[in-house]
Amino acid sequence: MNSGTQTAKIYDKIYLNGQWVAPQGKGFLPVIDSTTEAIIAQIPEANAADADAAVAAAKNAFVSWSTTPVAARAKYLQAIADKLKERQAEIANLIAEEVGMPLPLATAVQAGLPIATFSYYAKQATEYAFEEQVANSLIVREPVGVVGCITPWNYPLHQVAAKVAPALAAGCTVVLKPSEIAPLTAFILAEIVDEVGLPAGVFNLVTGVGTVVGEALAAHPDVDMVSFTGSTRAGKRVSELAAQTIKRVALELGGKSANIILDDADFTKAVSGGVANCYFNSGQTCSAHTRMLVPKNRQDEAIQIAKATAEKFKPGDPKADGTRLGPLVSATQQERVRGYIQKGIDEGATLVTGGTEAPENLDKGFFVRPTVFANVKNSMTIAQEEIFGPVLSIIPYEDEADAINIANDTVYGLSGGVWSSDVERAKNVARRLRTGQVDINGGKFNPFAPFGGYKQSGNGREFGKFGLEEFLEIKSLQL
Ligand code: NAD
Repeated sequence: MNSGTQTAKIYDKIYLNGQWVAPQGKGFLPVIDSTTEAIIAQIPEANAADADAAVAAAKNAFVSWSTTPVAARAKYLQAIADKLKERQAEIANLIAEEVGMPLPLATAVQAGLPIATFSYYAKQATEYAFEEQVANSLIVREPVGVVGCITPWNYPLHQVAAKVAPALAAGCTVVLKPSEIAPLTAFILAEIVDEVGLPAGVFNLVTGVGTVVGEALAAHPDVDMVSFTGSTRAGKRVSELAAQTIKRVALELGGKSANIILDDADFTKAVSGGVANCYFNSGQTCSAHTRMLVPKNRQDEAIQIAKATAEKFKPGDPKADGTRLGPLVSATQQERVRGYIQKGIDEGATLVTGGTEAPENLDKGFFVRPTVFANVKNSMTIAQEEIFGPVLSIIPYEDEADAINIANDTVYGLSGGVWSSDVERAKNVARRLRTGQVDINGGKFNPFAPFGGYKQSGNGREFGKFGLEEFLEIKSLQL
């Protein structure tokens, strides 16, 4: 366990128009280590006036950045990727502290993906056809303008990179409002942006709470687009505010994804893989496969495998060797997740393993026991609401059609899985799922495939060329 003796680092400036400046908002927000519960940093609680100043800087910078040759923009992106690589260990360490992800995973995923994303868009921008001829028209794709980026805490830098890299590649300028719960790597990004000499105003960082800085960006008449990742609740509010100026809104929201294990699947692989997927980042993943759908007559078999797998995810210090399950991000999240576990018990689901008590020997840190429920009905709260913790619901189904109905019986549609020994059968089932991504037989995450949701999981796609196109307007010139 960490000692809890960290000294809090004070950040007292935001990054605005190419400079670190004291914000007009005078408050501070604490950043907490999810394992030791110590305050590791204080960040500025900027206000709407700071958001205004950042938007003005971004608007001013747009004139030249949008007409900077793509190759020159790409060079900046690659330079950012290179600097992120130099600081990969530091980034992983901070995110392990903030979010609680085990360090080796934080290194590969939390710190690794942003490097890949900036590098990818450096290349993608230079290869993308920004112009095409259609009969007597020249179709030109142009940057949408000033983009307000609002991001969550669960993959803090990955979510930032998913917006900032393609927006800059497209020729947009950016005001970033990162999560106040895991903001520290956004400061590293701003330091890097400053170091590589990105022109003033192209990237601005304004920290603060969502209801103040986030809402100011969503409502601002000079922000042309808001790209938001977070809860469906906040996404709805952002959309309402943005509607007043008809700005473009991209939303990456919550999920309640179904993992359909068909009767011909390799059960050991499918069930253990499904549990691991659900518990990744302690279940704090929007695309987590939190509902495991199994044939009714094989539920007992699935329960046994799920229990054995879940019990191997012993909660512990994310920085200790061999830890597979860290704490949750905050006391609020811990309480919320335990509340859902209690609700599952109260509504009559079978508690297979886990529960509401603190894990043994962990009296500090926001830990929750890895939990599996079985005999879950899809109408239960734990099958309908996003829990964002290590809680798996096993739902029995009658036949393939029933499984598809259950999978689609949700307001969400972000991700999902299908397992079968017959890949064609699995693909056909996947095509019938109303969701943005489906992993076949545990197909691994592809950071260049489009990512985004159907239904209340959001609008638009991030990553790949689709992620670049989010930030482009289309104009046609008739010749
Ligand atoms: P959140 O909605 O509480 O906060 C996300 C961001 O929005 C933060 O920066 C926050 O300050 C800001 N915010 C909050 N209220 C706001 C408002 N009224 N106006 C403007 N901005 C506001 O979400 P969170 O707890 O940080 O993150 C967890 C959620 O994010 C989960 O629901 C998860 O599914 C979702 N998520 C989705 C994806 C995806 O790609 N679909 C990825 C990661 C996380």
